[in-house]
Amino acid sequence: MKNNLTDMPAEEFRKSGYKLVDWIINYLNEIEKYPPLSQIKPGDIFSRIPKQPPQTGEEIERVLADVDKVLIDGITHWNHPGFMAYFNSTSSMPGILAELLSAAFNANGMLWKTSPAFTELEKAMINWFRQMVGLPENYWGIIYDTASTSSMHAIASAREQLNLEIREKGMAGRNDLPKLRLYCSEQAHSSIDKGSLTLGLGLEGIKKIPVNEKFEMIPEKLEQAIKEDIANGIKPFCVVATVGTTSTTSVDPVKQISEICKSYNLWLHIDAAYAGVTAMIPEMKWISDAWNDADSIVINPHKWMFTPMDLSIYFTRKPEILKRAFSLVPEYLKTQVDDEVENLMDYGIQLGRRFRSLKLWFIIRYFGIDGLVERIRKHIQLAKEFANWIDDEKDFERLAPVPFSTVCFRYNPGNRTEHEINKLNESLLEKINASGKIFLSHTKLNGKFTIRLTIGSIRHERRHIDGAWQLIKTIARSLN
Ligand code: PLP
Repeated sequence: MKNNLTDMPAEEFRKSGYKLVDWIINYLNEIEKYPPLSQIKPGDIFSRIPKQPPQTGEEIERVLADVDKVLIDGITHWNHPGFMAYFNSTSSMPGILAELLSAAFNANGMLWKTSPAFTELEKAMINWFRQMVGLPENYWGIIYDTASTSSMHAIASAREQLNLEIREKGMAGRNDLPKLRLYCSEQAHSSIDKGSLTLGLGLEGIKKIPVNEKFEMIPEKLEQAIKEDIANGIKPFCVVATVGTTSTTSVDPVKQISEICKSYNLWLHIDAAYAGVTAMIPEMKWISDAWNDADSIVINPHKWMFTPMDLSIYFTRKPEILKRAFSLVPEYLKTQVDDEVENLMDYGIQLGRRFRSLKLWFIIRYFGIDGLVERIRKHIQLAKEFANWIDDEKDFERLAPVPFSTVCFRYNPGNRTEHEINKLNESLLEKINASGKIFLSHTKLNGKFTIRLTIGSIRHERRHIDGAWQLIKTIARSLN
């Protein structure tokens, strides 16, 4: 039974805090001893946790000990250099420190007044990041949790721009509203569909535009779809172009799409959740060339800028529309400085918000622009090298171009039907992931089961990529 009715005594926190920091250091130093993908069965971890909460308090030492005993083999280690699945978001040590500080402040940045430093650091970090990715000053920005949330706010703004009084009257039961349509490519992320669902536009509110052989949206098909919709009384309102699609990292032709958006007065949102950070690299400036015409852009530092989950940056040239869509100020949230300051709660659905900008402050200052650029550039070079290894082997096949750091490929030893090759690759991926050495993910491209390898971890070195390649080849050839 704890004998005080306040918080943990400071000395106990100091002791446990040092212990936890030591644990984190050892964990990260020795991370390669774990399998990157947890090998446990569903329900295993749950069954280790008592069904009832403790009636009286326990020593924190026992909780810390249980991290190893109860949790660790149920962790899929995103920070493991063998983790090459999805977009392999990793956390850096400066980012981990910032998370600790954020919990200590427990600042809630709903209003400027509820922590002036919160709102102002966020503004300053948005300003830094905007310059880092080469966006002009007329882009305003805000930090949300994820790209899904950022894109949902983009779609909400696009809808608000139509002046259809949806904020006041809603959409259901109105026969004065046209059917609204948003366009994105067949390769766009499912978060766009979810944003549309959330906003009551429905899945039919989205038209998926076909892609070319490089998985890029075909602008002519976009324009054709818009024209057809207009002819059928449907109102086009938004186009989402992706810079770095999830499956192959293809880049939609933003310049041409932007011209079409201008002609039909449509909101252009760019989903650059993964690849947006590469705009920091001088020789990659081409990816941001056409951005300046976009109404909004999302970039996730938590995907490829070594930022612990979560941190997504949403930029827009039209913050007043976002505010018009969401601002609602009850009496208890009014302050004397409302006319002088920006209250972040006015720009989205959430009231309370975490102090995420601390992570940018620590990470950008610690690594500097040069340090970040060099790391991301190295990942792109390693991916090109891996792609060349694939291209050099007769029994492997690359299935998409590699503009960034993700390689799509399959094993194809020949003399098999497409169905058999798919089954072979499914089994290859299963065996690779069961090896406990690396973790890869998959997608399907033109009906082909495709293995994806992503490089982007702060802990990735050439030896990890080489090791992965040797393992993939050995397992693949043992399947014959
Ligand atoms: N957009 C793209 C292109 C993605 O690849 C992803 C996730 O991988 C998302 C959006 C969604 O990201 P989040 O998990 O931050 O919502």
